[in-house]
Amino acid sequence: MTALVGIGYDSHRLVDGNSLRLGGVDVPHDKRLDGHSDADVLTHAVIDALLGAAGMGDIGQHFPDTDPRFAGADSMQLLDTVVGEIVAAGMHVVNVDCTVVLQTPKVAPHREAMRARLAGCLGIPQERVNVKATTGEGMGFVGRCEGVAALAIAALDTDT
Ligand code: MG
Repeated sequence: MTALVGIGYDSHRLVDGNSLRLGGVDVPHDKRLDGHSDADVLTHAVIDALLGAAGMGDIGQHFPDTDPRFAGADSMQLLDTVVGEIVAAGMHVVNVDCTVVLQTPKVAPHREAMRARLAGCLGIPQERVNVKATTGEGMGFVGRCEGVAALAIAALDTDT
């Protein structure tokens, strides 16, 4: 029974499209997130927080963006793989807190759907997954709508 914590951060570029994939939810928008996988920036931050807590490196080591197997990958499946590795190593997820940093659109209408999807994949109650959002106040790459960033923190516990 040892408490472990980890942090995660990610950012992805916005390009012309019709929805943003955030926390496994497609949010209607006139842009999409660009990346090797589905570019789900929120889920990537959560994955890195989990890997950090587990002492298992980072998302790039586990799912290299040079590997064609992960082209267009569903990040929820990557998260599922990571949770499986954590459980196999004798640990379990306690909670996850995260913040999406984007100028527009509003995250609030989709917040509960994101919590539900992430919690389902993490194998924990929805109440243990918190999703927050903030804008860039018009400043920097977020404020100019060039990209979206996400931060996450995860707590794990060892089974014994
Ligand atoms: Mg990423």
